[in-house]
Amino acid sequence: MKHYCPHCNTELIERHQTHVCPRHDIGECTYNALELLEQQNEGVKTLIAHHPDTLASRPTDRVF
Ligand SMILES: [Zn+2]
Repeated sequence: MKHYCPHCNTELIERHQTHVCPRHDIGECTYNALELLEQQNEGVKTLIAHHPDTLASRPTDRVF
């Protein structure tokens, strides 16, 4: 299955287990799947920071 850049419709190349736009490397396109992934990871970290109780720590750490 081929993937195409949502910005410029260029066929994406696979890199680091994700797909990136080949035109991003030459500065012609701003699409960067890796940056999107990192932003998503930052979102998860923020969620953990603000809601530590919502993510169950190891059950053995809990005292009932
Ligand atoms: Zn592109």
